[in-house]
Amino acid sequence: MKKSSRTQGSRYYPKRYDFDPAQRNAILDEGLVCHVSFVVENQPFIIPTGYCRVDDVLYLHGSVGSHFFMQMAKGIPVCVAVTLLDGLVLARTVFDHSMNYRSVVAFGKTRLVESDEERWLAAERFTEHVIPGRWEEAGKPTKSDMKKTMFIAVEVEEWSVKFRSHGVSDDPENMGLEVWAGVLPLKQVPQAPEADEEGVKGIPVPDYVLNYKRG
Ligand SMILES: Cc1cc2nc3c(=O)[nH]c(=O)nc-3n(C[C@H](O)[C@H](O)[C@H](O)COP(=O)(O)OP(=O)(O)OC[C@H]3O[C@@H](n4cnc5c(N)ncnc54)[C@H](O)[C@@H]3O)c2cc1C
Repeated sequence: MKKSSRTQGSRYYPKRYDFDPAQRNAILDEGLVCHVSFVVENQPFIIPTGYCRVDDVLYLHGSVGSHFFMQMAKGIPVCVAVTLLDGLVLARTVFDHSMNYRSVVAFGKTRLVESDEERWLAAERFTEHVIPGRWEEAGKPTKSDMKKTMFIAVEVEEWSVKFRSHGVSDDPENMGLEVWAGVLPLKQVPQAPEADEEGVKGIPVPDYVLNYKRG
């Protein structure tokens, strides 16, 4: 994949960038939410939404009536960001506070997915990306559901990965301050499942829900 000035940070810390596609894929596959930015008549928009990755393509899906999706259907340039927040870095002074993270910024062009085969692939991979095991168990989309849904492929042309994964970096003159310093790790951890009270009673919580984890 090509690299250009648009994927190289101006405050460029080479050690914080990783151009290994395996790292990029790991972040994209762990994330659940992306932010898609695009410009319409000089007005920038940024929209958070779900996604899934299939090789170098990101799939988005949404209502055929959505402004966002109608724009995407035109085949426009977009920038997509996925961020995983790994921790709060609490230095001895506020200035040196930071965050540990892994993030991907991807540039590409949108394409309306038209073939039934690719639309169904996107539907299945999207579901399995969010919660593996769900596609097999849950009712599949009907023809009418599919008609109401637009699938968009973002063909990624260029991307960057940035991360911070280390501890506190205080200035030497602040090391004597009597202030607690360290990292507060943050993780996406599911809480106890809450069953819906309607419908058929007594269905056990599936293992893929009980054992759900990201990354
Ligand atoms: C959770 C979180 C908190 C952050 N907090 C701060 C903060 O408070 N202050 C701050 O200055 N920075 C913060 N950053 C880093 C921020 O994302 C930028 O990397 C930083 O501002 C430096 O940008 P730049 O001017 O070098 O890059 P730019 O020149 O603006 O970006 C050029 C290109 O570099 C690549 N790039 C830049 N940043 C990232 C990234 N994070 N991930 C992947 N690719 C990237 C993109 O391809 C981008 O198009 C934070 C990042 C995250 C994920």
